[in-house]
Amino acid sequence: MTEQHLDAPMTVTRTGAPVPVTHRGAPSPPGAPAIGLDLGGTKIAAALVGGDGTVLTRHTLPTPSTRGAQAVLDVLAEAAREVWAPGTAAIGVAAAGVIDPVSGTVTSATDTIRGWAGTALAAGLAARTGLAVACDNDVRAAAATELADLGADGTLLYAAVGTGVGGAVAAAGRMLHGAAGIAGHLGHLPSPEADGLSCTCGATGHLEAIAAGPAITAHCARLGGDPADRLQTVAQRAAHGDPHATAAITLGARATGRALGGLANTLGPHRVVVAGGVPRIGALYWDALCAAFAAELMPPLRALRPTPPCGGADAAVLGAALLTRTVPLHHPHPTGARP
Ligand SMILES: [Zn+2]
Repeated sequence: MTEQHLDAPMTVTRTGAPVPVTHRGAPSPPGAPAIGLDLGGTKIAAALVGGDGTVLTRHTLPTPSTRGAQAVLDVLAEAAREVWAPGTAAIGVAAAGVIDPVSGTVTSATDTIRGWAGTALAAGLAARTGLAVACDNDVRAAAATELADLGADGTLLYAAVGTGVGGAVAAAGRMLHGAAGIAGHLGHLPSPEADGLSCTCGATGHLEAIAAGPAITAHCARLGGDPADRLQTVAQRAAHGDPHATAAITLGARATGRALGGLANTLGPHRVVVAGGVPRIGALYWDALCAAFAAELMPPLRALRPTPPCGGADAAVLGAALLTRTVPLHHPHPTGARP
């Protein structure tokens, strides 16, 4: 069996067999602009990104998340057309869910977008636009901008803590995808703090079940706090000294910090990034996470500290555009339409 390396430029035939892009022409030469599309549950952000990494044009459209996968592909193509300019060779798509960049399909997904699991994302968008398409998980795409910042041999541990707990792992300059594109799903590490709690994946006792935003909110109620509809409410109560809110936030942060500390010992990362909406709720969360992380580290790593993501508001679309150079490109059928 031939091992595939995603750091080598490849394209994928319509039968799914990867071949080097040199056999099909280089569709995304350095210096050519690329389109970055960030697909979220509520909006699609599009940008034309120049070869020097600057955003040249932006456009945003609402995600038709209740109208099914084909409608979402239609709007992705529309967003790409809005920012397209002559010379644009390829589209990079960052999307939620488990994305397999080799097959270009959505391996699995929640029902945030109806019917999204199983969608032939790359082929569907290539057929609609006539452009080559690369796709990957949105967290990995954002992490790719951090990895690029670390240089050629960087090793990176990246966590995204929000409505779920996702992540990305890169070693020696290479983003890890793993079997079926599953690598980096940090939320499904066993966590002692989550013992007995049901996880979204169907198992019990996983980190996400105690550390995701909704999990912290639910745990606050389990501890005896008044039910809250969102994490921000819990954070406001904690700021006013509510012991249940404080305990739930601290526990979620500590569980995440411990898991990341253990992973840091395993991986030896040059940088550990904690992104997502949950870390932004304030110092109570961040300080508890950092303390728990530090307590797990082996002596050679003691100077390592988690950091917030370095990218600004454009990180998602920049990471998406970067995919056109780092994961396989899926080419349209020769008769495909031009944008
Ligand atoms: Zn799980």
